[in-house]
Amino acid sequence: MAKRHAEIVGAGFAGLTAACALAQRGWSVRVHERGEALRTTGAGIYIYENGLRVLESVGAYDDAIKGAPFAHTREVRDDRNRTISVHRWGGSRVFSIVRQTVINALAAAANRAGVEIVTGSVGAIVSTDGELMLAKGEKRKADLVIAADGSNSRLRDALGLLATRKYLVDGCTRLLIDKTAEERASSDGATTVEYWSGSRRVLYTPCSETDVYLALTMLDSDDVAKATPVDKDAWKRWFPHLETLIDRIGPDGRYDRFDLIRLKRWSAGRVAVIGDAAHALPPNIGQGGGCAMMNALSLSVYLDREKDIPAALETWERAERPLTEHTQRISYWLGLPTTWPPAVRALTLKVAGRSKWLVKQRTRTALHRPTGT
Ligand SMILES: Cc1cc2nc3c(=O)[nH]c(=O)nc-3n(C[C@H](O)[C@H](O)[C@H](O)COP(=O)(O)OP(=O)(O)OC[C@H]3O[C@@H](n4cnc5c(N)ncnc54)[C@H](O)[C@@H]3O)c2cc1C
Repeated sequence: MAKRHAEIVGAGFAGLTAACALAQRGWSVRVHERGEALRTTGAGIYIYENGLRVLESVGAYDDAIKGAPFAHTREVRDDRNRTISVHRWGGSRVFSIVRQTVINALAAAANRAGVEIVTGSVGAIVSTDGELMLAKGEKRKADLVIAADGSNSRLRDALGLLATRKYLVDGCTRLLIDKTAEERASSDGATTVEYWSGSRRVLYTPCSETDVYLALTMLDSDDVAKATPVDKDAWKRWFPHLETLIDRIGPDGRYDRFDLIRLKRWSAGRVAVIGDAAHALPPNIGQGGGCAMMNALSLSVYLDREKDIPAALETWERAERPLTEHTQRISYWLGLPTTWPPAVRALTLKVAGRSKWLVKQRTRTALHRPTGT
């Protein structure tokens, strides 16, 4: 059989994972990234057992976790800095990692597999028979085109695949700060701490030998809290016990509003949509990237099993979509307490942290063994 060819638009977690997985299964693959370099925003990322298995499968694991601390415990603290729940990730892996390290690791694996990555190349229009038109006017014919162009995907929208896009009430500013000498000396892995104050949260996570990842979460209507550079005086008023931590914040930081995306279908003819373009979700259980990578890898597995491309894409969606939708639901529900009165929220989070059933629902995606691993 002649070598099959894929054109992929977007070199994020989804696009690069798909590129590695297809090239490793004998496809010729070209990836188009609109940026002039493979740069990712968003500071740090948690990658759980499921995503780590995908990284292993595509040969990017060792580079991705280099220097990243093993995140063994997650604590939640209420408005008075009292611990209300502690979750230990016994028996499964979680790493908190600098995002760029993961992208570099995936890009290196893609290069080793013979993928061509073209930067400064913008995908503009795609047709269901597998023709991709670039913004510069060139046309590329492929057996398969993959839209991995993020939550604002123009390829997806041009195909009319979007069913719903719900903007949520909250959003988040993410940034990295330098570790102190004491934090650098700690060799005890990473404890993540989520501090609450009203509708605002500070999530603290060591994520490399030199960096701490901070995620400041707030209502989208909270202009003071979502301002960048971060208004440190305001955040110190809301979190007086975190004054020295907040003082370490520099001028960088990126704010994003959370959203939830559902498609009518994940494919049309010879075009597949993956990652945030297909199923963006709020980050309350840190699984957007995990689902993006799982679905990118499984796509290549189904294409290997079934040579008829549209049929393979349908089987892939039928098999993989239910877990992604479960993940979206859980992540959405876990964001609801943001707007609740602090006492009700603290009680709910306490009960939720102790309920075996709820913990099982929350960790189902992380503990899932992805197709192809
Ligand atoms: C606050 C926050 C915290 C999060 N934390 C976690 C976490 O801890 N763990 C986790 O797993 N997930 C997390 N996520 C989710 C995760 O970031 C996303 O799910 C993931 O980045 C999706 O990857 P992607 O490749 O689909 O899209 P993206 O990362 O958006 O990549 C899309 C790529 O396509 C490129 N592109 C766009 N349009 C075009 C075009 N027309 N032509 C060419 N290139 C194009 C972009 O430049 C970009 O490089 C978080 C999200 C947020 C908002």
